[in-house]
Amino acid sequence: MKDRKLYEDFVRACQSCTKCELARTRTNVVVGRGNYVDAPLMLIGEGPGEQEDLTGLPFVGRAGKLLDHLLNALMFKPDDYYICNIVKCRPPNNREPTREEAEACLPFLRFQVKYIKPKIIVCLGSVALKYIVGGDARITKARGNWVERPGFFRIMPTYHPAAVLRDPAKKEELFMDMKKVKEYLDSISK
Ligand code: URA
Repeated sequence: MKDRKLYEDFVRACQSCTKCELARTRTNVVVGRGNYVDAPLMLIGEGPGEQEDLTGLPFVGRAGKLLDHLLNALMFKPDDYYICNIVKCRPPNNREPTREEAEACLPFLRFQVKYIKPKIIVCLGSVALKYIVGGDARITKARGNWVERPGFFRIMPTYHPAAVLRDPAKKEELFMDMKKVKEYLDSISK
């Protein structure tokens, strides 16, 4: 049995964090949504946007609606996944988080991964790819190809849904990558 209090304490620690400048301008800390107990799949984005900052929930704006639509279409169940971000506070004007901001926040993400123990991590976009996989891989090249972390999880890099909103031609690739994720998830849940 997992210690739910540990997760609740973690959420409170995030909510009172002032480790970087983003704490000054945030409305809410955006910790995560979905099955935090034992989701086999964790989706990681970049950072909260305006709607997420206002609601305290990740991926609830236009990009989030697209993501939800895709997950439903591929028949992921709500219990299958947990969604969070590299940084938990909104960068002003939706700019990319700086390395300092990401590094100040990454211990929180590491806690989430250790606590939930997902079998699959999906990196949504180049910022998640940079901090989760590292190296200088580009999302256009890395997407669609599994990255193995033996004994822990496998990683699927794919496009950020916001990139698909900007360039609808990318939608099919995002869909195909998530289909691979679904097939693998089904194969390990049997
Ligand atoms: N974009 C992200 O990367 N994360 C969110 O939560 C919303 C939009």
